[in-house]
Amino acid sequence: MKNRHYDLIAIGGGSGGLAVAKRAAENGKRVAIVEASRMGGTCVNNGCVPKKVMWYAANLAHAADDAGHFGVPVIRSATNWQKLVDAREEYIGRINSSWNNTVNNHGIDHIVGYAQFTNSDAIEVDGIGYTADHIVIAAGGMPILPALPGAELGITSDGFFALRSQPKNVAVIGGGYIGVELAGMLRALGSDVTIIGMEDRVLEVFDGMISDVLSEEMQKQGITVNMGVTVTGLEQKGDQVVIKTAAGQLKGAFDTVIWAVGRAPNTRNLNLEAAGVDVHRNGIVPVDDYQNTNVAGIYAIGDITGRAPLTPVAIAAGRKLADRLFTDVKESRVDYQNIPSVVFAHPAVGTVGLTEEAARQHYGDEVTVYETKFSPMRYALSEHKTATAMKLVCVGSEEKIVGVHIIGDNADEMLQGFAVAVKMGACKADFDNTIAIHPTSAEELVTMKVPVNRQASVEQQWRKAS
Ligand SMILES: Cc1cc2nc3c(=O)[nH]c(=O)nc-3n(C[C@H](O)[C@H](O)[C@H](O)COP(=O)(O)OP(=O)(O)OC[C@H]3O[C@@H](n4cnc5c(N)ncnc54)[C@H](O)[C@@H]3O)c2cc1C
Repeated sequence: MKNRHYDLIAIGGGSGGLAVAKRAAENGKRVAIVEASRMGGTCVNNGCVPKKVMWYAANLAHAADDAGHFGVPVIRSATNWQKLVDAREEYIGRINSSWNNTVNNHGIDHIVGYAQFTNSDAIEVDGIGYTADHIVIAAGGMPILPALPGAELGITSDGFFALRSQPKNVAVIGGGYIGVELAGMLRALGSDVTIIGMEDRVLEVFDGMISDVLSEEMQKQGITVNMGVTVTGLEQKGDQVVIKTAAGQLKGAFDTVIWAVGRAPNTRNLNLEAAGVDVHRNGIVPVDDYQNTNVAGIYAIGDITGRAPLTPVAIAAGRKLADRLFTDVKESRVDYQNIPSVVFAHPAVGTVGLTEEAARQHYGDEVTVYETKFSPMRYALSEHKTATAMKLVCVGSEEKIVGVHIIGDNADEMLQGFAVAVKMGACKADFDNTIAIHPTSAEELVTMKVPVNRQASVEQQWRKAS
């Protein structure tokens, strides 16, 4: 028999909901999580975890292709997709069970179903009412299927993770981080891949260096990169699908089309009007710096707030909120500045802080940039080289580092430590004074000497042209 009144109810058992519930329970509070689906939310079931497993598989495929050049004979045949997916799902099942145990062991009630508000302190799940002093909306988001003719002929990232056989000829629509990740792993595992995006370049919100190098590398891998293309709909052609574009062209046919055009917050079914909670037109629940909505006692954390939609951000927001509500740390809140993030593309991307463009807009001539591009030693014996590129964006005479951007093998693992340095306010001299670790790619980040002179390069180009 479940309680009907709690100190805290979390709506959603994903990264944010689990974090806030667990921390509240650790503080001796009566807590419930409402979750209709498997514990762990998007990250565990349809996001970071299955994605990273596929990325590891893709990395192994790339390594196998190169192994012969190192005298290690490896013959690669078709990917056993079914085996990969079965093993991945078994692993996810173990994480689900572990979360179920954590919930039980913390004395948290799991209310199975979808929550709807009935009042500012009350929700209903399958016709049963529950109240709480604090209600945390952590309902996350879902992939967007755009309102275009034939859109339903495509699948989304959720559909990708549900694929039980490998698509042979795939189009990924969307050049954001999920699009490039899916394209990279499918290609490495043997599918023919086309990526199509409306923006001028892949990873448009990232530093231009990252987009340029990734685009080059994707093309070297045999991915067709079609950016600057507006898709207007999908059409069935036999058992395949063609893509219609605004320029009147048809692309394809493809056996699978994947929409990777963004995610929408899961607000629609929450009946937020009953609680008087403000919602933006796009479904985002606005919050202040402390995760408060406009209604006292109702909070929102994670993707539904539209702020830095990443698992560690949702977790941090949940923990900080519970600390603020149930301990003496009344100022506890997330610092949304300098959040590091990684794109598990091929090669990987790691980035923290301002892009060069954003820094120049903000700080003008005070910006100094250091940049390098090279082929890492890992490829010394290989026929195919994969580039690594790095950029430090610095500001002022003290050259405070406000942006670190890396694309290349191991960028994902390299970035975390450098993000600590940026968060602590490191300057270029601090990097220079750190002894390099040799031979690594990361050492290049502490050995860059000469700043890029954008002006000179523009003039040189002009001289060359005239
Ligand atoms: C393909 C993909 C790859 C990703 N890769 C990464 C990555 O590498 N690194 C990273 O940091 N982030 C990644 N993310 C983002 C990450 O998954 C999210 O930022 C994170 O899961 C957000 O947590 P959340 O708690 O806000 O929501 P979610 O984890 O989405 O959890 C929300 C939960 O609420 C439940 N729910 C919804 N409505 C209701 C309701 N009315 N009642 C009850 N329950 C409800 C849902 O079933 C869901 O379980 C990825 C996302 C995707 C889609």
